[in-house]
Amino acid sequence: MRKTLFESFTHGVLTEAAPAPDEAGLAELAQAVNRAARAKLGRSLSIRQVDAGSCNGCELEIHALGNAFYDLERLGLRFVASPRHADVLMVTGPVTKSMREALLRTYNATPDPKWVVAVGACAVDGGLFAGSYAVAGGVNDVVPVDLTIRGCPPNPRQLLAGLLALLRTAA
Ligand code: SF4
Repeated sequence: MRKTLFESFTHGVLTEAAPAPDEAGLAELAQAVNRAARAKLGRSLSIRQVDAGSCNGCELEIHALGNAFYDLERLGLRFVASPRHADVLMVTGPVTKSMREALLRTYNATPDPKWVVAVGACAVDGGLFAGSYAVAGGVNDVVPVDLTIRGCPPNPRQLLAGLLALLRTAA
């Protein structure tokens, strides 16, 4: 223990410095999402996040969209508490058997037009948890998916790029 303590004083910081944030690029991407939402819906985009059984790694990245750095509410993107107020269901998975019914009810409670985005490798096909006795499958096995954003987990920039692609291509 004494040796470890001594080494921590003499070696200094060993972790790599974080990459410099590209704030301008990020703001441009977020504004593009907002513009696309207004062109498609006539207003800003409302998102309901559904954790259908994830490990919470994907949630950490999704929640980052609302933190002090990304702060997407200033650009019009909102996370809402009820599916009745949502345009997009952002679902992380895999879908566990105990969350299957809840996901279906959430989907049915969301007004049209609505889009479902499956976020993360697990949401695509069960990922690491595919084949588990507790897993019903990927999101598409329970509700129709309009867009998948792969990654384990996808980072906030990938999430924004996915939303932009969805708004530009979805009917
Ligand atoms: S994709 Fe990765 S981070 Fe997301 S729920 Fe699955 S294991 Fe967790």
